[in-house]
Amino acid sequence: MAEGESVDMSKLLERFYERLSEAGLKSTRQREVIFETFFSLNRHISVDELLAEVRTTAPHVGYATVYRTLKLLVEHGFARPRHFDDGQTRYDPQDEDEHEHDHLICIDCRRVMEFDDEVVHARLGQIVRDFGDYDLTRRKIELYARCRIQDCPHRPQ
Ligand SMILES: [Zn+2]
Ligand SMILES: [Zn+2]
Repeated sequence: MAEGESVDMSKLLERFYERLSEAGLKSTRQREVIFETFFSLNRHISVDELLAEVRTTAPHVGYATVYRTLKLLVEHGFARPRHFDDGQTRYDPQDEDEHEHDHLICIDCRRVMEFDDEVVHARLGQIVRDFGDYDLTRRKIELYARCRIQDCPHRPQ
């Protein structure tokens, strides 16, 4: 999901509860807080970062609960794990009709931005077909760039 894109939280939560009950799991207050925090922040977030954010509203939530809830979100299509070049796993919020998208990563401030360029996508499809009878099913493009913004607001303190 594009960063900053607003989400219909009640609709998302409803789908989350449906998936949970299908899986025979209960919807707990902690799972709900984690889910809501994850989707309202709507960025590529690590377990530790999400834990810190969740604890501002629910101070007693533990690491394992956040970790397991994110796993659950991945299993049920609400999140995708991403691995950029720093060994961290980041979770990317996914909406129902999510398009495959690519990432631009700032190597100075670690900001992750998304793009979906039709010209690039079409060209990649053509490259695959040039090899013979193949259809492109998945792609992974990561662009690493330096941030030239003085006092970049995203740079960690
Ligand atoms: Zn993404
Ligand atoms: Zn930057």
